[in-house]
Amino acid sequence: MNMCESDKLGLALSTYGASKVNILQEANIVILNTCSVRAQSEQKAFSFLGRAEEFKQDNPNTKIVVIGCMAERIGSKIKRRFKSVDLIVGSKDIDNAALKIADLCNLYDSSFNKIEDSQNIVRYVTIMRGCDNYCSYCVVPFVRGRETSLNALDILKESSLLVKNGVKEIMLLGQNVNSYRYKDFNFTSLVKNLATINGLERIRFMTNHPKDLSDELIEMMATESKVCSHIHLPMQSASNKILKAMNRKYSYEHYIDLVKKLRIAVPDISITTDIIVGFPGETKEDFEETFKAVKEIRFGGLYVFRYSPRPNTKAANMPDNVPLEEKKRRHRLILEESNKISIEIVASMVGSVQQVLAEKIENGVIEARTRGGRKVFVKGSSEKDLGRHLNVSIKEAKINSLFGNII
Ligand code: SAH
Ligand code: SF4
Repeated sequence: MNMCESDKLGLALSTYGASKVNILQEANIVILNTCSVRAQSEQKAFSFLGRAEEFKQDNPNTKIVVIGCMAERIGSKIKRRFKSVDLIVGSKDIDNAALKIADLCNLYDSSFNKIEDSQNIVRYVTIMRGCDNYCSYCVVPFVRGRETSLNALDILKESSLLVKNGVKEIMLLGQNVNSYRYKDFNFTSLVKNLATINGLERIRFMTNHPKDLSDELIEMMATESKVCSHIHLPMQSASNKILKAMNRKYSYEHYIDLVKKLRIAVPDISITTDIIVGFPGETKEDFEETFKAVKEIRFGGLYVFRYSPRPNTKAANMPDNVPLEEKKRRHRLILEESNKISIEIVASMVGSVQQVLAEKIENGVIEARTRGGRKVFVKGSSEKDLGRHLNVSIKEAKINSLFGNII
């Protein structure tokens, strides 16, 4: 979501003549987009602001702007602590960020020489904002507000325009895309309509909530050839006691049922997930259940997080009673197991032929992705292959990437 919003802001600012630089030292305007989901991401933002402030001491004309969830949550605290921050724009006001930055920095709209946005093969499209689910650990509903589904016709228009500009793959974004609803459109019908856009090759979406993933959607994934065989379906925990305390509104049995249905409907599907370890009250037995589930389900990949209490959330009132060392141990165990499985999965792909979409080229090597979402570096291809489907024979596998030759 943040990457998507940063991209959009960058594009909007480019119509004011601004362009992106790669290092802090070259910037006249420093924009920090922040995330509040975990305590660690907020700490990282604070330390970056420290560096930006130091830089500004020697370069007083530099403007520092903080946007996103932290700006929403603790904007005034940030301003008090970092005196040199010039502007704060919270996530609920993100649509006005470009205008506010342009005002602050005296940039003038030069949209008549609008920069052509045709470099990207893959683009994000936001279909929903906010979240109403109130998982007990999660700050998102507080910083991003109520769940709203964006106008389906606008989404289809935006997507068509992107495809006209060369985009081949669209990733639909929302905190819980399965509950998308706009007039007569639900999520499945939105995707089916999207799939009719000529020139669009691939559709992905995230995040899916297990409580709302419908049979209709699973069926659509099986039949709609543009929809990739990948689903990100956060499990969080396999202990029903913990799932209940997290207010996730599904049981582990329900989750497993979905996994089975997905694998029957889409045999080559890669299921990825999010897991939190050390949630308040998570005993060794609860953790064992999650560990066992990871072993048995064999996710295509996973993100594992150590629980951190977030302000305003229900879990923040529960005793954070798993010691840090134990959280680290559980985190490590899940990660090791998941890495082991990933290595086995990629090793089994060596020798196979994969259909990949060429996304980028660097030093003559194409970076592409399989339908399941794995990165493949392709030799024997060239610039003209960008945006095309290629058949690639996989020669070598590393944990997070595959290497192959074009056929
Ligand atoms: N809407 C998405 C998730 C958004 S947050 C969903 O429901 O799946 C991304 C991930 O961050 C979550 O899936 C969760 O695993 C993790 N997360 C959220 N709050 C957290 C917290 N307080 N501590 C640790 N991890 C957290
Ligand atoms: Fe947070 Fe739960 Fe909403 Fe995801 S569904 S954003 S975890 S409250």
